[in-house]
Order: sequence, then C-alpha cells, then structure tokens
Amino acid sequence: MIGDVLIGYEKARHDGARPVFIIREKSDDIERAPAALAALAKLNGFAGEAGAVLAGPEGVLLGAGDGSDPFIAAAGAERLPEGDYRIEGADATHCFAWLLGAYRFDRYKSAKPAGARLAAPAGVDVAAVRREAAAVGYVRDLVNTPAADMGPDALEREARTLADNSGAAIDVVTGGDLLSKNFPLIHAVGRAAAVAPRLIDLQWGRKDAPRVTLVGKGVTFDSGGLDIKGADGMALMKKDMGGAAHALGLARLIIEEKFDLNLRVLIPAVENAISGNAFRPGDVIRSRKGLSVEIGNTDAEGRLVLADAMTYGAEAAPQLMITLATLTGAARVALGPELPPFYCDDEPFAARLLAAAAQTNDPVWRMPLWKPYAASLSSSVADLNNAPGGSFAGSVIAALFLKRFAPENAVWGHFDIYAWRAKAAPGRPVGGEAQSIRALLAALRDWRPD
Ligand SMILES: [Zn+2]
Repeated sequence: MIGDVLIGYEKARHDGARPVFIIREKSDDIERAPAALAALAKLNGFAGEAGAVLAGPEGVLLGAGDGSDPFIAAAGAERLPEGDYRIEGADATHCFAWLLGAYRFDRYKSAKPAGARLAAPAGVDVAAVRREAAAVGYVRDLVNTPAADMGPDALEREARTLADNSGAAIDVVTGGDLLSKNFPLIHAVGRAAAVAPRLIDLQWGRKDAPRVTLVGKGVTFDSGGLDIKGADGMALMKKDMGGAAHALGLARLIIEEKFDLNLRVLIPAVENAISGNAFRPGDVIRSRKGLSVEIGNTDAEGRLVLADAMTYGAEAAPQLMITLATLTGAARVALGPELPPFYCDDEPFAARLLAAAAQTNDPVWRMPLWKPYAASLSSSVADLNNAPGGSFAGSVIAALFLKRFAPENAVWGHFDIYAWRAKAAPGRPVGGEAQSIRALLAALRDWRPD
C-alpha cells in the first residue's frame, strides 16, 4: 500500500523527523534552511534544480526548479533512503505528491518498496490524501497491466471486486446476450476476440439521490481490427481500457467518500481483435438507439461501444453523464499527452469542472462541440459514419459522434484522455496515468442538478 509511507500527525514523531526544505531555483528559499545545509548546497553546486535532492546531517534540500510543478515533493519519496521525513510548510498537496512518489507498478517485479516516510503536518486529512493516491495507483495498475492479464473478463472481475467491497449491485451482459438484449455495436466490436465482449453495469447509492452515470471505454486491447494498426500505433494499446479504469477509480472514490449520489458505472469491455468474424469497413450496424452506423474504419471502435452503453445509460434518465475514453490520437495532436480535452455544453457544469481542475492540479482543457463539424459524420448509406475521411478536428468530431447518443435532458461531460504518461516526472513514471478523476471528484462533491 502506497498509503503506508504517509504517517498521520503525531507531534513527537513529526517533530523528530528529518526536515526537508523545498528550494526553488533563483530564489532566496535557501535562507530558510540551516546554515550548514546552505553551505553544503554551495559545495555541491546545488541550486534547486527540479527533483534534485541533497541530504546533510541537518536535513534535506529538495529542488523545485521554477516552482511550477505542484507534485515536486514526490522526488523525496523516490530518492531518499528509508526514514521519517517532514516537509517545512507542508500541506495536503505535498502529502499527495509524496504518495505519488511511492507508486511502483510491481505486479511482475520484486520491486523494493519505498522506504522514505513523510510525517504529515497537523491539519491535513491524511485519510483523504491516502484515498486519492490509492485511486490514482489503482488506475495506473489497471492501465499498466498487459492485455493478456487485463481482458474483458479481468475488467469484469475488477468491477465485481468494487461491488463486493461496497455493496453495489452489478449486472453483466456477455457474448451472444449482447445481441438478444440489443447491444449490437458492443457485440460487433468485440465478437472476434477469444474472450467474449460484455457490458458491465454497476449501481450504487441512494435511489432518490441525484443520478450520475459514468461511462468508461473498456477496449482492453485495440489492434485496430481489420483496419489494423502499425507496430508503433499498436505498442501502447493495452491502455485502451483507460476510460474504464478511470471510471472504476472515480467510482471507488465516490463510494469511499460516501457521496450522496445514485451512481451508475457502465463499461463496455471488449477486445478489438481480428478473426474471420471480425466486423469490417463498410459494414452497416444498427445501434441500440436505432441510428444506423456505417463503419468507415474499424479502428474508430471506441465511439461504437460507447454509443450503445450511453444509449442504455440514457434510458434510465440520469441527470449527469460523464464519458471517459482514450478516444482519439487527434486529442494528443491538439493538446499533447498531459492535458486532456474536456467537452461539455452545460456552462455551469463546465465552469464547475474547470474550477475543480485548477483547485486539484488535475488539468483539463475545454474544447468545443462545434456544431458545423457534425455534418462530416454523414454517410451515403447510413445515418452516421464512425470515421469520416479527413484529418481535421478528430477529437471534436469523435465527441460530436458521442453527442448523438448522450442523454437529451441531462448534463453530459466527455473526457478524451490519454491515460498514459509519456515522459517521467517526479511521482509520475512513464506508464499508466490517471487524468481528470480528482477534478471530477471535486466537481461532484455536493453537486446537485439544476
Ligand atoms: Zn481503435
């Protein structure tokens, strides 16, 4: 448990821990450290470079660079030897960062656990910090787990574990039942895989509470289907269930914090594989909603499985629906891997979410559901095309496709996440990453529909 490296406040233990001083470059922060440490910094040429750590008998200096990284304290957990530490002027964000620094994906390794413990200062809600860090670690673990061990069946097991631990109800529609129960798009995308496709439906909370539905894309491996990806494009495709991992991680937090919500999580869990019965470019499939969809490209499968899950969710008239999906490469072309696009036509909720994102250091960027582009979703043979030609505005057009299946009288927010860290930073190793769920948690706290 990464939470173990955060020690709840006890005065004696806190005061006895080794002090860590966070030092920005080109600042006079060093003046707050003991003179002997400042002298040691000079001898070693330590100037506060981001993530640099220098330890001496009087304590530790931790470089914060220009001070712009809210999670720089993670470097302490990553680099310091075993022992108790305290950070001068610490707050909850430092504590959270320390736990991020203790994260290891060790399912397949005999990794050495982090041994540098942070003594939390008085006044920090240590349990809340641990919950959020554990949820981030959980999302990362699910995304990092190879597709061979995180297929549709394994995703179902994760959801069942969450249900067992929380008293949530769970229902799963699998394989041929997807056809008889009218989830044709989910079946079409997943039917070629050895492990059967399924729709996972978890429900928790007070029946009369505000109805919030999370829909997470659970493509456990995306070969691209018959429109097969090249090696570079396929290399990371174990992460294409990132939306499902995010939905489960967020649900876990909502449940642990006992939000007064009627929460539902819908996860279409499929592997987009290739076999003789794979769906094909040019096929026309009638969706659960009744709209027919021409398959322009079998690699635009996420929006297909989400469409049926969203339609099903909308039938229960939620007041808020959130979709989380590793949906488009175009989102990364627009904003890069660390800033997920967020779509929402409801101004109050969008403002609430953006404020929550800033407050939690969990950034998102609002992009437009630009109506004129919806015309490009047309098809000459069907109501919609899942992958119209052209390379412009791919993330916007994917969001506009989903909008056709969103509930009409509800707030809908959509996150086109990457779920992966491409470049390491303190507390954020290369690999699976949770994006936007802490912002969503803050936005959903005490949320009520208008
Ligand atoms: Zn795809």
